[in-house]
Amino acid sequence: MSLLKSCVKNPAVGDSVVYWMRMEDLRVHDNRALARASAQAKKDNIPLITLFVLSPQDYIAHDRSSRRIDFTLRNLRSIQSSLAKLHIPLYTTSLSPRTAIPSYVLSLLREWNATRLFANTEYEVDELRRDIKVCELAQKEGVVACSFIHDKCVIPPGDILTKAEKGYTVYSPFLRSWIPHLTPGDGKEDPLACAPPPAENPASVREHPLYGKLFDTPVPDKVEGFAFLDKDEEERIRTCWPAGEEAAQQMLDRFLHTMARSSQMGAVDPLAEDPTRNSTKDTRVGKYKDARDRVDADTTSRLSPYLAAGVISARECIRATMELSTNKKQKIDASRDTGVGRWVQEIAWRDFYTHIVALFPRVSMGRPFIEKLADIKWESESSEDHLQAWKDGRTGVPIVDAGMRQARAMGWMHNRVRMTAAMYLVKDLMIDWRQGEKYFMETLIDGDLASNNGGWQWSASTGVDPAPYFRIFNPYIQSKKADPSGEYIRYFVPELREVLGDEIHQPSPALADRLGYPRPLVDHFEARERAIRRYKNPGQE
Ligand code: FAD
Repeated sequence: MSLLKSCVKNPAVGDSVVYWMRMEDLRVHDNRALARASAQAKKDNIPLITLFVLSPQDYIAHDRSSRRIDFTLRNLRSIQSSLAKLHIPLYTTSLSPRTAIPSYVLSLLREWNATRLFANTEYEVDELRRDIKVCELAQKEGVVACSFIHDKCVIPPGDILTKAEKGYTVYSPFLRSWIPHLTPGDGKEDPLACAPPPAENPASVREHPLYGKLFDTPVPDKVEGFAFLDKDEEERIRTCWPAGEEAAQQMLDRFLHTMARSSQMGAVDPLAEDPTRNSTKDTRVGKYKDARDRVDADTTSRLSPYLAAGVISARECIRATMELSTNKKQKIDASRDTGVGRWVQEIAWRDFYTHIVALFPRVSMGRPFIEKLADIKWESESSEDHLQAWKDGRTGVPIVDAGMRQARAMGWMHNRVRMTAAMYLVKDLMIDWRQGEKYFMETLIDGDLASNNGGWQWSASTGVDPAPYFRIFNPYIQSKKADPSGEYIRYFVPELREVLGDEIHQPSPALADRLGYPRPLVDHFEARERAIRRYKNPGQE
């Protein structure tokens, strides 16, 4: 896939270079567009300005959660202070409607007399349309060269294709093609190395007539249309997910170098002093292959909010795993047999789903990848009550309820519970997967269109390389495997705290009634039959 580029070649050198930061590249380090913009500014001996345009309409269209908006603003503040140390201003502004953004950005370029604009590519349809419009306007004016650069994935969409030059739609061959492209030692882009010239004369920077005042523009406190988090929620979410590149690096470091502790399963400070720090074996990544599906301990990296917002790059994650190897020339480990390899494969899933959105955009527009499943008959009568019960964590299936309550409490869920809760909504309750996809985006802090859509279409058996429609998770069996001791359920479902033994996974009606816990909304085996029947004959009851 070629990069979007305006046709203005070698424009005259203006008075500044602009880097347009987006919601998925909230970092200074290893940021390709920022590095390129910075190098250009140095070459032309002119200042670099960073621009961020908050777009409430886009956030509403993408069902962004208030947690994600809050996380974005917190990260922007952290970036603003990192950039200020380099004498680079970050100018954040808010604009509606979204259709006004291209001409507004061009007007800022004119105001700052910038003839070069750099940005990392966003692959969603509306965002691509917006960038095409920017290029068209820039071309019309004939003075601004725009460069849109691949940055989100380890390997950019379009770089690995099948023999027929098409995008891969099955993960295993995608992975086999992806691995040889990894060159983890190369390409660490560090704009700190090329701060623009005013850094040499800091006193002049703040008084600069063109951009001096931009340093004084604070990152807004809120975005129109999004509620502030209430005090409790704010404290909980900010404790679980501290903002900034340093926090992201610490999360990565914790995953690669410390042991999993069961007491860290809930809403606690993930970066609190860890007595296992010096341990060289039994690290989270070391045990990932066998422990990653366990929800009753903190076994995974919890990096998804940072990766989704680009606070850390996926390339950096791959490089850091390479550092674990004593033989630095050794090829990247992406085998199924080691913890590191399994983790690298998860990063590959992220690339895979992003490639799918870029190459098959219909999936992000509410269409199933398997078109013939577009007509499946979803429940309509019971669906509103059932959907609400699912959202509230009151389905009567403990593992599903624990997961849904974890999502509400932390803005995050373990992958195994995401799969179980998603499949339960779609196959047991027969509720349209798009309702669940929307709710996850509205609730999770790591909401990412490509991964969320991929996960939902996998669970609904409508996507690329999905779960076969007849292989329906039994949530009670999933529960026993993922949470054998029941600790996870007890943590998030307090009504069941006194239940011991296996009954925690499927309380009897009498026990449920006594504890004030709901009985199951549907019988799993009857629901399973209904789902198989409807998937076999889309459009029919
Ligand atoms: P780890 O196990 O430590 O994995 C490392 C990283 O690999 C993750 O941070 C993530 O970036 C990536 N990754 C892992 N598993 C997947 C996967 N199955 N698909 C794509 N990338 C993956 N992930 C999101 O980042 N945002 C979402 O909105 C999202 N929605 C999902 C919805 C459903 C229905 C399902 C089944 C999965 C969804 N996932 C989503 C994927 C996965 O559940 C999370 O990435 C993972 O739970 C995050 O925890 P972690 O960072 O500890 O992951």
